[in-house]
Amino acid sequence: MDFLSDKPWWSEGLFFGCLGCGRCCRGEPGAIWFTEREEALLAARLGLDRDAFRRRFVTGRYGRPSIVERRGGECALLDEAGNRCNVYAVRPLQCRLFPFWPSVLRSRLAWEEESRRCPGMNGGKFYPPWLIGRLLAAAPFGDL
Ligand code: SF4
Repeated sequence: MDFLSDKPWWSEGLFFGCLGCGRCCRGEPGAIWFTEREEALLAARLGLDRDAFRRRFVTGRYGRPSIVERRGGECALLDEAGNRCNVYAVRPLQCRLFPFWPSVLRSRLAWEEESRRCPGMNGGKFYPPWLIGRLLAAAPFGDL
């Protein structure tokens, strides 16, 4: 927030364009949260019933169910041979919204820190403030 104007720091808009490098699906262990409906879609996509999906792909992170990560923090649903998400068409909203997450948009510093990991930030398409506001409001979990 810009304390002099009451506007968020991103009120002039931001630039982002995914380069498909897959880095956001790897790196430090994190949380890959999903809703119950998303879980059903993920399981169906993989041809598993919900129990089988849970046994193979679900763990707990910060008090919520989260997708299992491989050694090194790589999402277990990422194609091991490349950078493709195996469930891209039904990936959770958390993944779709990146990098417009509350935790990344909370300050310019947080955005710039994340941009060291994600080469798509600060380049690509212009996101006007009204759209950023909508993406922020769509976050399924406030602490995302
Ligand atoms: S790290 Fe950024 S550029 Fe790379 S796949 Fe993720 S969102 Fe796209």
